[in-house]
Amino acid sequence: MQPLGEPGPGLRFEQRWQQAVDGALASWGSELSLVMVSDPARAQILIHRRRPPLLDAQGRRRASHGRALLELLEVERQGAWRPEPRVLVLLSPDQRLEALQATALHELGHAIGLWGHSDELGDAMAAVPGAQPKLSLSARDRATVRWLYQQPSRFGPPP
Ligand SMILES: [Zn+2]
Repeated sequence: MQPLGEPGPGLRFEQRWQQAVDGALASWGSELSLVMVSDPARAQILIHRRRPPLLDAQGRRRASHGRALLELLEVERQGAWRPEPRVLVLLSPDQRLEALQATALHELGHAIGLWGHSDELGDAMAAVPGAQPKLSLSARDRATVRWLYQQPSRFGPPP
C-alpha cells in the first residue's frame, strides 16, 4: 500500500484513503490470509493512491475510481524461478470515505482473484455499484472466494 506523504493539507485526504483501504483489506482478510510486506518488490498486490487512466488496457474510454491490472511475472523465490501473478490496484482518492471503501473492496476482490462480476446488486463484486456503497462482503462474496481458493492452481502455494 502506498505510504502516506508529508504532513500538509493533503494528509487528511491520504488518511481517509488509507482508512478506506484498511477497511477493505480487513474484510477480505477475514476470508484469507493477507500478508503486508514493506518491500514493494515482494508484494503480489500493489495498491496505489492514483486515479486510473481514462483509457483502459484495451484502449477503451472508461472513467472509473478504481482499477485492478493483472501481470504475470517470473519471480525468483528461494533460488527457484516460478510464475506469479502481480496485481496493480489503482484507487483514486477523490471519493467520499464510504464510496472509496466500496471501490477498494471491489477492486481488491479482483486483485485476490475474483476477476468475474456478480449479477447480484448486494454483492461487493456486483458489476454495477448499487445506490448504497457496499462496505462488507455478502455471503455470496465469501462463498465465492472460499470456493476459488479450494481450486487447484499451477502457481503453487504462496511463498
Ligand atoms: Zn470490477
